[in-house]
Amino acid sequence: MIQYSRGIRVHAGLIDWLWVRIHTDTGLTGLGETYPCSPAELGVIERSFAPHLLGADPLNIDKLWADLFLGVSYHGWAGAEVRALSAIDMALWDLAGKHANLPVYQLLGGASRQTIPIYNTCYDHLDFHKEPVRLARELLESGIRAMKIWPFDPVALRLRGERLSPQGLQEGLEPLRLIRQELGDAIAVAMEFHGYWHLPDAIRIAKALEPYDPMWLEEMLPQDNLAAYRELASATCLPLTISERLMTRWGFREVLHNRAARVIMPDISWCGGISEAKKIAAMAETEYLPVAPHNCGGPVLHFASAHLAANLTNLYILETVRRHYLDEYRGLLTADLLPINGRLPLPPGPGLGVDLMPDVLTRPNVCVTHLRA
Ligand SMILES: [Mg+2]
Repeated sequence: MIQYSRGIRVHAGLIDWLWVRIHTDTGLTGLGETYPCSPAELGVIERSFAPHLLGADPLNIDKLWADLFLGVSYHGWAGAEVRALSAIDMALWDLAGKHANLPVYQLLGGASRQTIPIYNTCYDHLDFHKEPVRLARELLESGIRAMKIWPFDPVALRLRGERLSPQGLQEGLEPLRLIRQELGDAIAVAMEFHGYWHLPDAIRIAKALEPYDPMWLEEMLPQDNLAAYRELASATCLPLTISERLMTRWGFREVLHNRAARVIMPDISWCGGISEAKKIAAMAETEYLPVAPHNCGGPVLHFASAHLAANLTNLYILETVRRHYLDEYRGLLTADLLPINGRLPLPPGPGLGVDLMPDVLTRPNVCVTHLRA
């Protein structure tokens, strides 16, 4: 039975992580996480979720998910409501794993691989605008054979919708052009666009990138008009991805039915949790589409994403951020999860296999809220 829970807000630079720790009468606890606006997400848990959760059996994950979603979907099935639900769901899976004394990936259906393919999102000590080849070489030397960069962002932010000049196009192409010139196809390179472009210039950029064979083109347009995405998809042979910001199976249904992307990218801490990401992946599998989970949040998400990635039969590749696991996550959790020869090992168990370091709750950038029956 769920006895009480704690909302733990962590100020982590520009964003806040929210950790949720669910406590039960057996003494087991479950840990979940979401971001980036912890006061809003905690408000949803406090006001809408806690009354349903306190006293409930935490092992009935699907029913609890449906009850909580029903409670909030009337006033919006996206936003802080679903981010909060994602954190709760993650904590319930952690609890279920600890109860069964099994890692979460075993509860999801077992390991579909023994090591997990990853790419590095390049929030890095080396600037990919200035030193793309050095950065790519360094990643290759550490065994990592895929990276993600966003060299068109400064161009887009300068133009704010004005026509992309040939010089601007070349500026955005330059890092990938240099990597291909110096390293050939030794490293896969995903191109991220953060939704800054409109359709005509997105098509021009996609066509110009085709000879360089990027791994995918991510979020070239804002995600709200999937018919425009379909037009973009039909104009290029390169695979598109969107969807890190989409939520629930109904949100992803629109992407799949519109053939708007060829790589599906749910974020466990945003889309509705581990339960929802597993369902979204199954829906993608029926369309013969692979899944590349978005994993650019906090340290608990990193473990949860590894459990999901270990299990999925249609995993493409998992996002990781070197700066996070080498630096920002350090000292927060009872374990690290680092790549070995460019791939992640299977994450530990039971549950998510990790907990907060005992002293974390008393740190000055951490604020703890107790929710009791
Ligand atoms: Mg992205």
